[in-house]
Amino acid sequence: MLRAAVLVFLTYLFAHAEDPYLRNRSLDVTHYRFELSVNDSTNRIEGRATLSILFKSPVSSFELDLVNGNSQGEGMRVSRVSIAGKDQPFSHEKDRLKIALTDPAKTNEKREVIILYSGIPEDGLIISKNKFGDRTFFGDNWPDRAHHWLPVVDHPSDKATCEFLVTAPEEYQVIANGIKTEEAFLPNHVKLTHWKESVEIPTKVMVIGVAKFSIQKAGQVDNIAVETWVYPQNADAGFIDYAPAVPVLQFLQQKIGPYPYEKLANVQSTTRYGGMENASNIFYFENSVTGKNDDEALIAHEVAHQWFGNSASEKDWHHIWLSEGFATYLSHVYIEHTHGQLAFTDALQEDRRQVIAFYKDKPAPILDTTITTLAHLLNPNSYQKAGWVLHMLRHELGDSVFWEGVRGYYKSFRNSNALTNDVRRQFEAASGKDLRKFFDQWLYRPGLPILSVNWSYDPSGQFITLNVNQTQLEGAFSFPLEIGLLQENGTEAGQKIRIDQKHQDFRISVKEKPSKIALDPKCVLLFDGQIRPSRTE
Ligand SMILES: [Zn+2]
Repeated sequence: MLRAAVLVFLTYLFAHAEDPYLRNRSLDVTHYRFELSVNDSTNRIEGRATLSILFKSPVSSFELDLVNGNSQGEGMRVSRVSIAGKDQPFSHEKDRLKIALTDPAKTNEKREVIILYSGIPEDGLIISKNKFGDRTFFGDNWPDRAHHWLPVVDHPSDKATCEFLVTAPEEYQVIANGIKTEEAFLPNHVKLTHWKESVEIPTKVMVIGVAKFSIQKAGQVDNIAVETWVYPQNADAGFIDYAPAVPVLQFLQQKIGPYPYEKLANVQSTTRYGGMENASNIFYFENSVTGKNDDEALIAHEVAHQWFGNSASEKDWHHIWLSEGFATYLSHVYIEHTHGQLAFTDALQEDRRQVIAFYKDKPAPILDTTITTLAHLLNPNSYQKAGWVLHMLRHELGDSVFWEGVRGYYKSFRNSNALTNDVRRQFEAASGKDLRKFFDQWLYRPGLPILSVNWSYDPSGQFITLNVNQTQLEGAFSFPLEIGLLQENGTEAGQKIRIDQKHQDFRISVKEKPSKIALDPKCVLLFDGQIRPSRTE
C-alpha cells in the first residue's frame, strides 16, 4: 500500500516539474534583429543584435544566453551593450550575458537593447566544407545551440519574430526564416541579404544558411511558395527529391489548418540531423539528395513540424513529444494517404518494435522528467511511442473527432506554447470524453501492455474462452483489444474486448472452431506479447 501511495505522489511531482532552464518570467523578447557578417578568410563572425524586450515586471538587470570564449579561441566576445545610444554595464560569464540597466525598466515597458559582439562559433553556426568541398555556413540550433552564435533567451517558451541581415561574399546565396526583403551588392564583392520572419518562432528554429545554391520554385500551395535550395552540383537530383514537399504541404494544410509561415524552402545542408525543421526553411542532411525521390517520409515529418514544434511549441522540453510525436505520426498519415494502408501499418509495426526494444532497455515514461541532457530527449519514446499514442487516440475517438481535436489544438496554440494537458483538453473538447486516464497511462507512466493470452474452444457451447494476462511489471493498462478470428474457409471476423485488469477471462461465441486467432489484427494497439492455444487443447 505504501508503495502505491508513494508512486502516485511521485507521478504528481514529476508531472509538474520543469526542465532545468533558468526562466526569467519578467522578460519577454518580442523581436530579434540580427546583423551578421561572415567571410571566407576566417571563421570569425561580426554581430550586432537588436533585441526588443517587453519587461513584465520592474527589472534593473537581466541575463541572456550567449556562449563565452573558450581556451581554443572560440566563442563570442561582447564589446558593447547599449539602449538608445547609452552604454549599459554588462558582464559575460558562464555563457550568460548579464546586463544592468542604468535606468531600470518598469512593468510593461519595452526597450531595444543593442549588443555588439564577435567571435568564432564553436557550435550552432556550423562553418565548414560541404561534400563537394565548397565552403558553407549553416545554423543548426536544436535544442539550445542558438546561443553559440546569437544572444538570445535560448528556450522554446520565449518565442519571437526575427530578422537576419547577413553580409557575405557575393557568390553565396543566403537563406533564412520568413521573407527576403532585400538583396544588395555592396563594395568589396560582398552582398547583403535581408530576411524577415513576422511570425513568432522559437530560437531552436531561427537559422541562416549561406552557400552556393541552385534554387528552384517547386510549386505553390495557396499563397505559400515552395522552394528547393540545393548545392549546384546536386541540382537535378535535388529538384526531384525535394519536390514532394508541395503535395505534403497541401495535404497537411487540409488536415491541420493554415500553414503558419510565409514560405516553405527545402534546403540541402550540413545539419547533424536527418532533417531539421527550421521555421519556413527546413535543412536536410546533404546525402538526402540521391535523385531517387525517396525522401517523402522525411519531408512529411519536417513539414509537419512547421505546425507542431515550430508554431504550437512545447513550453517545456520534457513535453517534446508535442513536436516529435506529432511529426512522426503525421508523416505516417501522409504515407497512408499516398501509399495506402499496408505501408502505413508497416511503419507503425516498425515503430512498435523500436518502442518495445527501448522499453526493455529503459522503462521510462514519455514525459521523462529525469532527463536533464536535452539530447537524450531524442529517443523512441518521444518519437515512436508518442506517435503510437496519437494513433491509439485516433482509433479510440474515431477519425473525425480525432482530426477535430488536432485542428482545435493547432487553432488554440498556433504561434504559442503548450503542455501535455493543453492537448488533452483539446481532444476532450472534441470528443466530450474524459481522457485523463488515457493520457496518464500512455504518457506519464512507463511501459506498455505485455500480453500473454491463452485460448480454448468449447465445441458443445460453441464459444472460445480467452484467458488474458498483462505480464508487465507496471500496473494494469486499460485498452480495447481486437481479437481476429480466421476460419478454415478464409473468412475473418473481429471481436473487440475491453481489458482493464491484469488477469481477465472472456467468452466469445463462434459458430465453429477458428483455425487461427490473432491479437490486434488492425495494428491499433501498442503492446507486446502473443496468443496461444491453452495446454488442454
Ligand atoms: Zn522531428
